[in-house]
Amino acid sequence: MSKILIVGNWKMNLNTHQASLYLHKLDGMLKAYRDVEVVICPSTLVLQSLSLQVNHRKMKLGAQNCYWRDDGPYTGEVSATMLHGVVDYVLVGHSERRHIFGEREPDIRAKVQAVLRNGLRPILCVGETAQEKADGETEHVLHEQVVSGLANVTSEEMERVTVAYEPVWAISHGTDFARHVSATPEQADAAAKLIRRQIKSLYGAEAADKIRILYGASVSPENAGSYLGLPSINGLLAGGASLQADTFTALVTAAHQSAKSTEKGAT
Ligand code: PEP
Repeated sequence: MSKILIVGNWKMNLNTHQASLYLHKLDGMLKAYRDVEVVICPSTLVLQSLSLQVNHRKMKLGAQNCYWRDDGPYTGEVSATMLHGVVDYVLVGHSERRHIFGEREPDIRAKVQAVLRNGLRPILCVGETAQEKADGETEHVLHEQVVSGLANVTSEEMERVTVAYEPVWAISHGTDFARHVSATPEQADAAAKLIRRQIKSLYGAEAADKIRILYGASVSPENAGSYLGLPSINGLLAGGASLQADTFTALVTAAHQSAKSTEKGAT
């Protein structure tokens, strides 16, 4: 069984100086647990400097996005080739990329491919909007996003893939994560089970057992345990709660507690 994965998505927050101070603080607070893997995803600008500062025993770095070509005339973009050696993980298909920046399924699929081609680990983010939920489309949307995002991924490559279920209607605005509506554990469980069934039908039972499925959207130290206690959920993707070292540390501690009280996270 793989480690519980706790990922912090800083989005467009924390400049170079703030990021460095944060990392210093986090390093002082975090313990290196054998059953929890910790990943922070800062802005692309600060990745290089943080990669020199990060305590690799305690945490890894992830990027929030990348382009799907390896190099070329693509002004403003950063490729997975460039991220190689700096990060271990890359978020792909985050709802803000889909809904604010207009990323479509072919872009997302190509990005998953680029991340894998460059030896990194994609975290494929999927989730329905409020409208899709109201229309009873959740299952269909998750099915489409998983099948499309993973098209062309081989069974061998699947070992490096993580899927994050992030219902778009529950994603916070950053500072309001503790007050914002989050999915109920039952909703998160149902979505995770659905995603796992799809992985099983695409890649077989072993791959479905092995893949880590995260819950993300308004995760807080208060509700983290209710998701981590679900056998279907193998970790968390946190936005707002990752912006303060103490709340992020609380998520990691909750993951360790959960690993100790369940079979999860036993490497
Ligand atoms: C996210 O957008 O990846 C996220 C999890 O945000 P939040 O926790 O702030 O809802």
